[in-house]
Amino acid sequence: MIDTHAHIDDEQYQDDLDAFIRSQQAQGVEHIIVPGVDANNIEAVWNVCQRYPDFLSPAIGLHPENIRDDWQSQLETLHRALCIVHRQPRHYCAIGEIGLDYHFDTTYKEQQKEALRQQLSWAVEYDLPAILHVRDATEDALTILNEYTHSPRLRGVMHCWSGSEEVARQIIDMGLYLGIGGIIAFKNCKLREHLSSIPLERLLLETDAPYMAPVPHRGERNESAWIRYVMEELSQVYHVPVDEIERITSANAQSLFFPL
Ligand SMILES: [Zn+2]
Repeated sequence: MIDTHAHIDDEQYQDDLDAFIRSQQAQGVEHIIVPGVDANNIEAVWNVCQRYPDFLSPAIGLHPENIRDDWQSQLETLHRALCIVHRQPRHYCAIGEIGLDYHFDTTYKEQQKEALRQQLSWAVEYDLPAILHVRDATEDALTILNEYTHSPRLRGVMHCWSGSEEVARQIIDMGLYLGIGGIIAFKNCKLREHLSSIPLERLLLETDAPYMAPVPHRGERNESAWIRYVMEELSQVYHVPVDEIERITSANAQSLFFPL
């Protein structure tokens, strides 16, 4: 199993980090992608990944919810870190998480769009996939993403996917993946119906840990091993054995984040 989105730099993991990592590995987790959210957690993300370099891979980006008046200087700091690290043999595996989020606050709508465009340009320039966070901003996000789907083509994943089948189609038609997490196991979740016609070859597994713990662990600190609940749901939706779900989604993650 590959967890394509978990914030292992979060302070909730630091007290028992070694034991936590060992327990994830013992439960069959093969790899975890650790996204960045702003200039303040560059070091924490990098350091935790360097402790387990074969198991954790870092990403770098400015999360739309962290866009404030200082967004331009944040982007400069992030870009500097990206340039330095990119020359090293082990470098960032993605730009993210980046995107648009109008859910709680639309004050910085225009700045969010501009920051997204800049960071998508880095993704294309450095040939890295983008980890996209989009909430209540689908139309604007699709408009911007469309600007980057020509050559060289943007690669990436729409993280924490829960949208309609129609929008899912538009996203996969752009060549992007959909990141499926614990939401699929929530009661009354329409995602199961919306997904059934989307090919498994376009799906990735993720937790968004420490948040979004799936049923039956709602409210607890989430962990990567619990993507097995997501695999069980997908197994029912697609009428495919869990092993096969694991094989296909791991191959998808491999080809997006670590292409040969
Ligand atoms: Zn996240």
